[in-house]
Amino acid sequence: MSKYKESLKCSFCGKDKKDALMLIAGIDGHICETCVEQAYEIINEELKTKPNGKTKNSFILPSSITPLDIKSFLDQYIIGQNDAKKYLAVAVYNHYKRLNSKMEGDVEIEKSNIILVGETGTGKTLLAKTIARFLDVPFSIVDATVFTEAGYVGEDVESMLSRLLQACDYNVEAAERGIVYIDEIDKIARKNDNPSITRDVSGEGVQQALLKMLEGTEVNVPPQGGRKHPEQKMVKINTSNILFICGGAFSGIEKLIAKRLNTQVIGYNAEDKDVIDRENYMQYVIHQDLKNFGLIPELIGRLPVLTYLEPLDLETLIAILTKPKNALIKQYEKLFELEGIKLTFTQEAIEFVSQKALEYKLGARGLRSLCEAILTDAMFELPSLTGITEFVVDLAYAEEKVKKTAKHKLMAA
Ligand code: ADP
Repeated sequence: MSKYKESLKCSFCGKDKKDALMLIAGIDGHICETCVEQAYEIINEELKTKPNGKTKNSFILPSSITPLDIKSFLDQYIIGQNDAKKYLAVAVYNHYKRLNSKMEGDVEIEKSNIILVGETGTGKTLLAKTIARFLDVPFSIVDATVFTEAGYVGEDVESMLSRLLQACDYNVEAAERGIVYIDEIDKIARKNDNPSITRDVSGEGVQQALLKMLEGTEVNVPPQGGRKHPEQKMVKINTSNILFICGGAFSGIEKLIAKRLNTQVIGYNAEDKDVIDRENYMQYVIHQDLKNFGLIPELIGRLPVLTYLEPLDLETLIAILTKPKNALIKQYEKLFELEGIKLTFTQEAIEFVSQKALEYKLGARGLRSLCEAILTDAMFELPSLTGITEFVVDLAYAEEKVKKTAKHKLMAA
Protein backbone atom coordinates (compact mmCIF):
# COMPACT_ATOMS: atom_id res chain seq x y z
CA MET A 1 0.00 0.00 0.00
CA SER A 2 2.77 2.42 0.90
CA LYS A 3 4.45 1.76 -2.41
CA TYR A 4 1.29 2.80 -4.27
CA LYS A 5 0.95 6.00 -2.26
CA GLU A 6 4.52 7.05 -2.80
CA SER A 7 4.10 6.99 -6.56
CA LEU A 8 1.25 9.53 -6.53
CA LYS A 9 1.95 12.72 -8.47
CA CYS A 10 0.14 15.96 -9.26
CA SER A 11 -1.44 15.38 -12.66
CA PHE A 12 -0.84 19.04 -13.59
CA CYS A 13 2.77 19.78 -12.64
CA GLY A 14 4.03 16.30 -11.94
CA LYS A 15 5.10 17.13 -8.41
CA ASP A 16 5.59 14.07 -6.27
CA LYS A 17 3.30 13.55 -3.28
CA LYS A 18 6.23 13.76 -0.89
CA ASP A 19 7.15 17.25 -2.18
CA ALA A 20 3.62 18.59 -2.03
CA LEU A 21 1.78 19.86 1.03
CA MET A 22 -1.26 17.95 -0.16
CA LEU A 23 -2.62 16.19 -3.18
CA ILE A 24 -6.35 16.38 -3.80
CA ALA A 25 -7.74 13.33 -5.56
CA GLY A 26 -10.09 13.56 -8.53
CA ILE A 27 -11.68 10.73 -10.54
CA ASP A 28 -8.70 10.19 -12.75
CA GLY A 29 -5.87 12.19 -11.24
CA HIS A 30 -4.56 14.45 -8.53
CA ILE A 31 -3.83 18.13 -8.03
CA CYS A 32 -1.35 19.77 -5.63
CA GLU A 33 -1.99 22.91 -3.60
CA THR A 34 0.24 25.07 -5.81
CA CYS A 35 -1.72 24.13 -8.92
CA VAL A 36 -5.00 24.83 -7.12
CA GLU A 37 -3.76 28.31 -6.31
CA GLN A 38 -2.61 28.93 -9.86
CA ALA A 39 -5.90 27.67 -11.29
CA TYR A 40 -7.77 30.01 -8.97
CA GLU A 41 -5.73 32.99 -10.18
CA ILE A 42 -6.30 32.07 -13.82
CA ILE A 43 -10.05 31.92 -13.26
CA ASN A 44 -10.03 35.27 -11.51
CA GLU A 45 -8.07 36.90 -14.34
CA GLU A 46 -10.44 35.40 -16.85
CA LEU A 47 -13.50 36.74 -15.04
CA LYS A 48 -12.05 40.24 -14.93
CA THR A 49 -11.60 40.42 -18.71
CA LYS A 50 -15.01 39.02 -19.59
CA PRO A 51 -16.57 41.61 -21.90
CA ASN A 52 -20.12 41.82 -20.60
CA GLY A 53 -20.18 39.99 -17.32
CA LYS A 54 -21.43 42.46 -14.70
CA THR A 55 -18.94 41.29 -12.18
CA LYS A 56 -18.28 43.50 -9.19
CA ASN A 57 -14.82 44.27 -10.50
CA SER A 58 -16.03 45.86 -13.72
CA PHE A 59 -18.69 48.06 -12.22
CA ILE A 60 -19.96 50.65 -14.64
CA LEU A 61 -23.03 52.75 -13.99
CA PRO A 62 -25.48 51.86 -16.75
CA SER A 63 -26.18 54.97 -18.82
CA SER A 64 -29.94 54.54 -18.40
CA ILE A 65 -29.71 55.14 -14.65
CA THR A 66 -30.49 58.63 -13.37
CA PRO A 67 -30.21 60.21 -9.92
CA LEU A 68 -34.00 59.90 -9.76
CA ASP A 69 -33.70 56.12 -10.11
CA ILE A 70 -31.21 56.05 -7.26
CA LYS A 71 -33.55 58.09 -5.08
CA SER A 72 -36.53 55.90 -5.95
CA PHE A 73 -34.56 52.86 -4.87
CA LEU A 74 -33.63 54.55 -1.59
CA ASP A 75 -37.31 55.44 -1.07
CA GLN A 76 -38.17 51.75 -0.91
CA TYR A 77 -36.01 51.22 2.16
CA ILE A 78 -35.67 54.59 3.87
CA ILE A 79 -38.46 56.78 5.15
CA GLY A 80 -38.18 60.55 4.70
CA GLN A 81 -34.72 62.13 4.62
CA ASN A 82 -35.43 63.55 1.22
CA ASP A 83 -32.63 66.09 1.20
CA ALA A 84 -30.04 63.50 2.18
CA LYS A 85 -31.33 61.10 -0.47
CA LYS A 86 -31.16 63.76 -3.15
CA TYR A 87 -27.63 64.83 -2.28
CA LEU A 88 -26.48 61.27 -2.04
CA ALA A 89 -28.10 60.28 -5.33
CA VAL A 90 -26.42 63.13 -7.17
CA ALA A 91 -23.04 62.57 -5.53
CA VAL A 92 -23.05 58.86 -6.26
CA TYR A 93 -24.27 59.42 -9.79
CA ASN A 94 -21.48 61.93 -10.42
CA HIS A 95 -18.91 59.73 -8.79
CA TYR A 96 -19.56 56.76 -11.02
CA LYS A 97 -19.97 59.00 -14.09
CA ARG A 98 -16.58 60.37 -13.24
CA LEU A 99 -15.11 56.89 -13.21
CA ASN A 100 -16.62 56.09 -16.59
CA SER A 101 -15.39 59.25 -18.23
CA LYS A 102 -11.93 59.32 -16.73
CA MET A 103 -10.24 57.58 -19.56
CA GLU A 104 -11.88 59.73 -22.23
CA GLY A 105 -11.56 63.40 -21.37
CA ASP A 106 -8.84 65.75 -20.25
CA VAL A 107 -10.86 67.57 -17.59
CA GLU A 108 -10.55 65.55 -14.47
CA ILE A 109 -13.67 65.67 -12.32
CA GLU A 110 -12.86 65.74 -8.64
CA LYS A 111 -14.10 63.11 -6.29
CA SER A 112 -17.28 63.84 -4.39
CA ASN A 113 -16.88 62.16 -1.02
CA ILE A 114 -19.84 62.73 1.22
CA ILE A 115 -20.44 63.70 4.83
CA LEU A 116 -23.77 63.00 6.53
CA VAL A 117 -24.66 64.85 9.70
CA GLY A 118 -27.55 63.64 11.84
CA GLU A 119 -28.52 62.20 15.20
CA THR A 120 -27.89 58.56 15.94
CA GLY A 121 -30.38 56.11 14.45
CA THR A 122 -31.69 58.45 11.77
CA GLY A 123 -30.56 56.29 8.87
CA LYS A 124 -27.04 57.43 7.94
CA THR A 125 -25.59 53.93 7.77
CA LEU A 126 -28.73 52.61 6.15
CA LEU A 127 -28.45 55.20 3.39
CA ALA A 128 -24.84 54.30 2.62
CA LYS A 129 -25.57 50.58 2.78
CA THR A 130 -28.60 50.87 0.51
CA ILE A 131 -26.70 52.88 -2.09
CA ALA A 132 -24.01 50.20 -2.19
CA ARG A 133 -26.67 47.55 -2.58
CA PHE A 134 -28.23 49.43 -5.47
CA LEU A 135 -24.91 49.72 -7.22
CA ASP A 136 -23.80 46.23 -6.30
CA VAL A 137 -20.32 47.40 -5.37
CA PRO A 138 -18.20 46.23 -2.42
CA PHE A 139 -19.12 48.05 0.77
CA SER A 140 -17.67 48.24 4.23
CA ILE A 141 -18.49 50.09 7.41
CA VAL A 142 -15.78 51.26 9.74
CA ASP A 143 -15.84 53.13 12.98
CA ALA A 144 -13.54 56.15 13.10
CA THR A 145 -13.07 55.73 16.84
CA VAL A 146 -10.92 52.59 16.46
CA PHE A 147 -8.29 54.46 14.51
CA THR A 148 -5.26 56.07 16.02
CA GLU A 149 -2.34 57.69 14.32
CA ALA A 150 0.62 55.43 13.58
CA GLY A 151 2.62 54.54 16.64
CA TYR A 152 -0.29 54.42 19.06
CA VAL A 153 -2.33 51.48 20.25
CA GLY A 154 -5.27 50.92 17.91
CA GLU A 155 -5.70 50.44 14.20
CA ASP A 156 -4.06 52.28 11.31
CA VAL A 157 -6.54 54.06 9.09
CA GLU A 158 -5.35 51.82 6.24
CA SER A 159 -7.04 48.89 7.90
CA MET A 160 -10.43 50.23 6.76
CA LEU A 161 -9.43 49.09 3.30
CA SER A 162 -8.81 45.58 4.62
CA ARG A 163 -12.52 45.35 5.41
CA LEU A 164 -13.36 46.46 1.90
CA LEU A 165 -11.01 43.84 0.49
CA GLN A 166 -12.60 41.19 2.69
CA ALA A 167 -16.04 42.27 1.48
CA CYS A 168 -15.11 41.36 -2.08
CA ASP A 169 -12.99 38.27 -1.51
CA TYR A 170 -9.73 40.16 -1.91
CA ASN A 171 -10.53 41.30 -5.43
CA VAL A 172 -8.39 44.45 -5.56
CA GLU A 173 -9.99 45.84 -8.70
CA ALA A 174 -13.46 45.52 -7.18
CA ALA A 175 -12.35 47.10 -3.90
CA GLU A 176 -10.94 50.05 -5.82
CA ARG A 177 -14.48 50.92 -6.98
CA GLY A 178 -16.20 50.28 -3.69
CA ILE A 179 -17.78 52.43 -1.02
CA VAL A 180 -16.45 52.85 2.53
CA TYR A 181 -18.74 54.23 5.20
CA ILE A 182 -16.80 55.86 8.03
CA ASP A 183 -19.06 56.11 11.05
CA GLU A 184 -18.60 58.43 14.02
CA ILE A 185 -16.36 60.82 12.14
CA ASP A 186 -17.34 63.47 14.71
CA LYS A 187 -15.51 61.52 17.40
CA ILE A 188 -12.14 62.33 15.86
CA ALA A 189 -12.77 66.05 16.00
CA ARG A 190 -10.12 68.13 17.64
CA LYS A 191 -11.08 68.43 21.26
CA ASN A 192 -9.61 71.83 21.91
CA ASP A 193 -8.48 74.82 19.93
CA ASN A 194 -4.84 74.44 20.75
CA PRO A 195 -3.70 71.05 19.51
CA SER A 196 -0.07 71.57 20.52
CA ILE A 197 -0.68 71.64 24.27
CA THR A 198 -2.08 68.15 24.68
CA ARG A 199 -1.37 65.54 22.08
CA ASP A 200 -4.76 64.42 20.89
CA VAL A 201 -4.12 60.83 19.93
CA SER A 202 -7.51 59.94 18.57
CA GLY A 203 -8.27 63.28 17.06
CA GLU A 204 -6.25 65.42 14.72
CA GLY A 205 -3.59 62.80 13.97
CA VAL A 206 -6.25 60.49 12.62
CA GLN A 207 -7.80 63.25 10.59
CA GLN A 208 -4.37 63.92 9.07
CA ALA A 209 -3.94 60.24 8.30
CA LEU A 210 -7.28 60.17 6.52
CA LEU A 211 -6.52 63.04 4.18
CA LYS A 212 -4.52 61.25 1.52
CA MET A 213 -6.74 58.25 1.59
CA LEU A 214 -9.90 60.29 0.96
CA GLU A 215 -8.27 62.19 -1.83
CA GLY A 216 -6.80 59.22 -3.63
CA THR A 217 -3.47 57.55 -3.15
CA GLU A 218 -1.81 54.17 -3.27
CA VAL A 219 -2.01 52.48 0.08
CA ASN A 220 -0.33 49.34 1.31
CA VAL A 221 -3.02 47.44 3.08
CA PRO A 222 -2.62 44.58 5.53
CA PRO A 223 -5.15 42.11 4.07
CA GLN A 224 -6.14 40.78 7.49
CA GLY A 225 -6.57 44.23 9.01
CA GLY A 226 -5.06 45.46 12.25
CA ARG A 227 -1.58 46.90 12.43
CA LYS A 228 0.93 46.74 9.66
CA HIS A 229 3.89 44.61 10.58
CA PRO A 230 6.94 43.72 8.53
CA GLU A 231 6.26 40.04 8.03
CA GLN A 232 2.73 40.59 6.75
CA LYS A 233 2.23 40.54 2.99
CA MET A 234 0.71 43.85 1.88
CA VAL A 235 -1.80 44.49 -0.87
CA LYS A 236 -1.56 47.73 -2.81
CA ILE A 237 -4.85 49.59 -3.24
CA ASN A 238 -5.45 52.81 -5.09
CA THR A 239 -8.14 54.83 -3.35
CA SER A 240 -8.77 57.39 -6.13
CA ASN A 241 -12.01 55.74 -7.16
CA ILE A 242 -13.25 54.60 -3.78
CA LEU A 243 -16.20 56.65 -2.59
CA PHE A 244 -15.97 57.59 1.06
CA ILE A 245 -19.15 58.44 2.92
CA CYS A 246 -18.64 59.77 6.43
CA GLY A 247 -21.33 60.02 9.05
CA GLY A 248 -21.58 61.49 12.51
CA ALA A 249 -24.06 62.75 15.07
CA PHE A 250 -22.00 65.91 15.78
CA SER A 251 -23.89 66.29 18.98
CA GLY A 252 -24.02 69.92 20.01
CA ILE A 253 -23.41 71.26 16.52
CA GLU A 254 -26.88 72.84 16.53
CA LYS A 255 -25.58 75.37 19.04
CA LEU A 256 -22.76 76.33 16.72
CA ILE A 257 -25.17 76.60 13.80
CA ALA A 258 -27.58 78.69 15.83
CA LYS A 259 -24.79 80.96 16.93
CA ARG A 260 -23.59 81.46 13.39
CA LEU A 261 -27.09 82.04 12.07
CA ASN A 262 -28.05 84.47 14.77
CA THR A 263 -24.96 86.60 14.37
CA GLN A 264 -25.35 86.47 10.63
CA VAL A 265 -28.96 87.46 10.75
CA ILE A 266 -28.41 90.34 13.07
CA GLY A 267 -25.47 91.51 11.07
CA TYR A 268 -26.90 91.24 7.58
CA ASN A 269 -30.54 90.70 7.03
CA ALA A 270 -32.92 90.98 9.91
CA GLU A 271 -35.84 89.70 7.85
CA ASP A 272 -34.33 86.23 7.50
CA LYS A 273 -34.56 85.78 11.22
CA ASP A 274 -38.24 84.92 10.93
CA VAL A 275 -37.68 82.24 8.35
CA ILE A 276 -35.28 80.21 10.43
CA ASP A 277 -36.80 76.99 11.73
CA ARG A 278 -35.55 76.98 15.30
CA GLU A 279 -36.77 73.47 15.93
CA ASN A 280 -34.28 72.03 13.50
CA TYR A 281 -31.02 73.87 13.12
CA MET A 282 -29.32 70.86 11.58
CA GLN A 283 -30.81 71.65 8.16
CA TYR A 284 -28.66 74.79 7.96
CA VAL A 285 -25.36 72.98 8.51
CA ILE A 286 -22.49 74.18 6.34
CA HIS A 287 -18.82 73.21 6.17
CA GLN A 288 -17.84 76.06 8.45
CA ASP A 289 -19.86 74.49 11.27
CA LEU A 290 -17.88 71.27 10.92
CA LYS A 291 -14.70 73.30 11.21
CA ASN A 292 -16.01 75.01 14.32
CA PHE A 293 -16.85 71.59 15.69
CA GLY A 294 -13.24 70.47 15.33
CA LEU A 295 -12.72 68.91 11.93
CA ILE A 296 -9.64 70.25 10.23
CA PRO A 297 -10.20 72.32 7.07
CA GLU A 298 -8.16 69.93 4.93
CA LEU A 299 -10.42 67.03 5.86
CA ILE A 300 -13.57 69.08 5.28
CA GLY A 301 -12.20 70.03 1.88
CA ARG A 302 -12.05 66.37 0.93
CA LEU A 303 -15.68 65.85 1.84
CA PRO A 304 -17.29 68.33 -0.51
CA VAL A 305 -20.83 66.97 -0.38
CA LEU A 306 -22.44 67.81 2.94
CA THR A 307 -25.98 66.91 3.87
CA TYR A 308 -28.02 66.35 7.02
CA LEU A 309 -30.59 63.92 8.32
CA GLU A 310 -33.77 65.02 10.00
CA PRO A 311 -34.43 63.93 13.58
CA LEU A 312 -37.17 61.31 13.58
CA ASP A 313 -40.57 62.31 14.92
CA LEU A 314 -43.34 60.00 16.06
CA GLU A 315 -44.99 59.84 12.68
CA THR A 316 -41.74 58.91 10.95
CA LEU A 317 -40.97 56.24 13.53
CA ILE A 318 -44.38 54.69 12.96
CA ALA A 319 -43.74 54.71 9.22
CA ILE A 320 -40.28 53.17 9.71
CA LEU A 321 -41.82 50.38 11.72
CA THR A 322 -44.40 49.51 9.08
CA LYS A 323 -43.68 50.94 5.63
CA PRO A 324 -40.22 50.11 4.16
CA LYS A 325 -39.77 47.04 2.01
CA ASN A 326 -38.14 45.22 4.90
CA ALA A 327 -39.81 47.11 7.75
CA LEU A 328 -39.35 45.56 11.18
CA ILE A 329 -43.00 44.59 11.58
CA LYS A 330 -42.95 42.95 8.15
CA GLN A 331 -39.88 40.97 9.20
CA TYR A 332 -41.57 39.70 12.34
CA GLU A 333 -44.73 38.88 10.40
CA LYS A 334 -42.63 36.81 8.05
CA LEU A 335 -40.91 35.03 10.93
CA PHE A 336 -44.26 34.11 12.47
CA GLU A 337 -45.64 33.13 9.09
CA LEU A 338 -42.86 30.56 8.83
CA GLU A 339 -44.35 29.02 11.97
CA GLY A 340 -47.81 29.10 10.39
CA ILE A 341 -48.95 31.97 12.63
CA LYS A 342 -50.48 35.26 11.52
CA LEU A 343 -48.94 38.04 13.57
CA THR A 344 -50.77 41.35 13.96
CA PHE A 345 -49.74 44.52 15.78
CA THR A 346 -52.67 46.79 16.60
CA GLN A 347 -52.29 50.45 15.68
CA GLU A 348 -52.10 51.38 19.42
CA ALA A 349 -49.29 48.91 19.97
CA ILE A 350 -47.37 50.35 17.02
CA GLU A 351 -47.83 53.87 18.35
CA PHE A 352 -46.72 52.77 21.80
CA VAL A 353 -43.50 51.24 20.46
CA SER A 354 -42.74 54.36 18.43
CA GLN A 355 -43.46 56.62 21.38
CA LYS A 356 -41.06 54.63 23.57
CA ALA A 357 -38.34 54.76 20.90
CA LEU A 358 -38.78 58.51 20.80
CA GLU A 359 -38.43 58.71 24.58
CA TYR A 360 -35.18 56.74 24.56
CA LYS A 361 -33.73 59.08 21.93
CA LEU A 362 -32.18 56.25 19.96
CA GLY A 363 -33.90 57.10 16.73
CA ALA A 364 -35.15 54.11 14.84
CA ARG A 365 -32.47 51.99 16.50
CA GLY A 366 -34.62 51.64 19.61
CA LEU A 367 -37.45 50.09 17.62
CA ARG A 368 -35.75 46.74 17.26
CA SER A 369 -34.92 46.26 20.92
CA LEU A 370 -38.48 47.22 21.83
CA CYS A 371 -39.94 44.73 19.35
CA GLU A 372 -37.58 42.05 20.65
CA ALA A 373 -38.70 42.77 24.21
CA ILE A 374 -42.33 42.46 23.19
CA LEU A 375 -42.03 39.37 21.05
CA THR A 376 -39.30 37.25 22.64
CA ASP A 377 -41.67 35.35 24.96
CA ALA A 378 -44.02 34.61 22.08
CA MET A 379 -41.18 33.54 19.82
CA PHE A 380 -39.92 31.28 22.60
CA GLU A 381 -43.22 29.64 23.44
CA LEU A 382 -45.28 29.50 20.26
CA PRO A 383 -43.14 27.00 18.28
CA SER A 384 -43.78 24.33 20.94
CA LEU A 385 -47.55 24.91 21.07
CA THR A 386 -49.91 23.40 18.55
CA GLY A 387 -53.08 24.74 16.99
CA ILE A 388 -52.19 28.43 17.24
CA THR A 389 -52.72 30.25 13.98
CA GLU A 390 -52.97 33.84 15.09
CA PHE A 391 -51.14 36.11 17.49
CA VAL A 392 -52.21 39.68 18.22
CA VAL A 393 -49.99 42.22 19.96
CA ASP A 394 -52.24 44.87 21.43
CA LEU A 395 -51.40 47.86 23.60
CA ALA A 396 -51.81 46.01 26.92
CA TYR A 397 -49.55 43.15 25.84
CA ALA A 398 -46.89 45.51 24.48
CA GLU A 399 -46.95 47.63 27.65
CA GLU A 400 -46.66 44.62 29.89
CA LYS A 401 -43.65 43.17 28.06
CA VAL A 402 -41.83 46.50 27.87
CA LYS A 403 -42.45 47.12 31.58
CA LYS A 404 -40.88 43.77 32.38
CA THR A 405 -37.76 44.46 30.39
CA ALA A 406 -34.98 46.38 32.07
CA LYS A 407 -34.56 49.83 30.60
CA HIS A 408 -30.83 49.40 30.03
CA LYS A 409 -31.62 46.43 27.81
CA LEU A 410 -34.03 48.42 25.72
CA MET A 411 -31.51 51.17 25.34
CA ALA A 412 -28.67 48.87 24.33
CA ALA A 413 -29.57 49.22 20.69
P1 ADP B 1 -27.30 55.91 12.06
O1 ADP B 1 -26.22 55.39 11.16
O2 ADP B 1 -27.83 57.24 11.61
O3 ADP B 1 -26.94 55.91 13.51
P2 ADP B 1 -28.74 53.60 11.16
O4 ADP B 1 -28.72 53.84 9.68
O5 ADP B 1 -27.76 52.60 11.67
O6 ADP B 1 -28.56 54.95 11.95
O7 ADP B 1 -30.21 53.22 11.59
C1 ADP B 1 -30.48 52.26 12.56
C2 ADP B 1 -31.66 51.43 12.11
O8 ADP B 1 -32.83 52.25 12.14
C3 ADP B 1 -31.55 50.95 10.67
O9 ADP B 1 -31.14 49.64 10.59
C4 ADP B 1 -32.97 51.05 10.16
O10 ADP B 1 -33.65 49.84 10.37
C5 ADP B 1 -33.62 52.07 10.99
N1 ADP B 1 -33.80 53.37 10.35
C6 ADP B 1 -33.22 54.53 10.74
N2 ADP B 1 -33.65 55.55 10.01
C7 ADP B 1 -34.51 55.05 9.12
C8 ADP B 1 -35.29 55.62 8.06
N3 ADP B 1 -35.24 56.92 7.81
N4 ADP B 1 -36.06 54.78 7.34
C9 ADP B 1 -36.10 53.46 7.61
N5 ADP B 1 -35.41 52.87 8.58
C10 ADP B 1 -34.61 53.65 9.33
